[in-house]
Amino acid sequence: MLDTKTVREVIIRRVSEALRTWEAQQADHDVPSPSGIHSCFRQQWAKATKQEVTNPDQLAWIKNMEQGKLVEPFWSDIFRLGGFTVADLNERLTIAGGPMTGVGDRMITDETGEIEIPFLLELKNLGPFSYYELMKHGLKNATPYYYYQVQAYMEMYNIPFAVVFAGQAEASSITWWWRVREKKQSGPNATEWPPAFLVEVVERAPADFAWAQQRAVDVRWYIDNVTAMAKVPRDFDPAQPKYKTPDGRNKQSPCNYCPIRDGCMKAGEQL
Ligand code: SF4
Repeated sequence: MLDTKTVREVIIRRVSEALRTWEAQQADHDVPSPSGIHSCFRQQWAKATKQEVTNPDQLAWIKNMEQGKLVEPFWSDIFRLGGFTVADLNERLTIAGGPMTGVGDRMITDETGEIEIPFLLELKNLGPFSYYELMKHGLKNATPYYYYQVQAYMEMYNIPFAVVFAGQAEASSITWWWRVREKKQSGPNATEWPPAFLVEVVERAPADFAWAQQRAVDVRWYIDNVTAMAKVPRDFDPAQPKYKTPDGRNKQSPCNYCPIRDGCMKAGEQL
């Protein structure tokens, strides 16, 4: 007869292993990709060339990666209730003849005519830090990887604008952070509760897409032609815990949670 302690241990072990298996399956996704093109150049190369992972993601992050997709059907239902026609997008397409392929979340038409042309809806599910960054600094400065992703999709679907709609991944922590910090910084007329969701309408910017497309071509070239990590350009210094954003803010460096941080540090940069 199994005791409860053994059952508990079996479940923890098997679910932990299954999470790692699921993560490894996702790692086969295409590189370069619209959602990853703004990531560190060397990190993209390392993912495609399967460099050794010495700084693995935390187990708890693995579910978070999928959480956004899991809530998409809910938001589709809400948009339908709001009077929009919502088309799921399933077919992966090549982006403007380049090395990236992609598929957007939803294409929306407004039968009432209030919004006259179809638009792409990209659904995001954000934790407290990303949520408030997006609210205060806008998509391009707060989450540039989403910005370049939607630029690639607008090019792919040949549409003039996209809507990024961000829900709260976890309402309690977002409310808590509002009460302890953001509300005070929002001035005397701040509302009692944080905004229930965020909406940013992003215009198509051909020059920004051209940057992403050229970077994709370059990433592909390094994947196919370069084997020594030191010869692959990197966007950060792994010895520095922080970096400055283009709009002048100090942010945690992505090196802190980069899967190949040790290898990158050791290799240095010899271009
Ligand atoms: S450690 Fe930093 S610089 Fe090196 S690949 Fe990772 S993100 Fe890029």
